[in-house]
Amino acid sequence: MSDSIGVIRQEVIECTKCELSKTRIKSVPGKGNFKSHVIFVGEAPGKNEDLNGEPFIGIAGKKLSMALEEAGISREDVYITNIVKCRPPKNRVPSATERSTCQDYLKQEISIIKPKIICILGNTAFNSLLGGSEIIKHRGRVVKKDGQMYFLTIHPAATIYNQELIMVLKNDIAKLFRIITEIKEGKDIVIDFDYTD
Ligand code: URA
Ligand code: SF4
Repeated sequence: MSDSIGVIRQEVIECTKCELSKTRIKSVPGKGNFKSHVIFVGEAPGKNEDLNGEPFIGIAGKKLSMALEEAGISREDVYITNIVKCRPPKNRVPSATERSTCQDYLKQEISIIKPKIICILGNTAFNSLLGGSEIIKHRGRVVKKDGQMYFLTIHPAATIYNQELIMVLKNDIAKLFRIITEIKEGKDIVIDFDYTD
């Protein structure tokens, strides 16, 4: 299993499938525990990630780590990745073409890790994976699509300039790990929205 993740990692590092390969410094493959029950999916690498080749290591990453720590989880316990693996110039939102060109890597990460739940961080991941928008109205919910469970929360970067959102993120992440515990215990999870209905 770690082998297959290693193969994707190498493909991402060498990838030139979209325009973002021309402006990036380093591609940013997913990182973390490939036995994790949850995959966190952000938008795209920012400046620090582009310089270092690792996801969520800048200020947004600190916010995410903080929320995880409060829930008693270490970053190394989970797997963290993004919708696109290369930094868009000036941190613009990745285009529809860039997102669809990059989507196979995420699909492969998901099919290898087989997470019990995917945690969507913010609007770009919400839109790319579930076609949704206005995550602030839907956050804290559990969604099911094609047999895969998802949990919706805000992007950690949204908490940087809005102190009130820090508690929102922390409470959501705490809820996510309560849900994961219940899944592991074999309990029935309340699905707030089922796309297959
Ligand atoms: N924001 C993201 O969406 N992903 C990162 O890796 C860093 C910042
Ligand atoms: Fe390849 Fe994705 Fe990077 Fe585009 S963003 S070059 S598809 S890894």
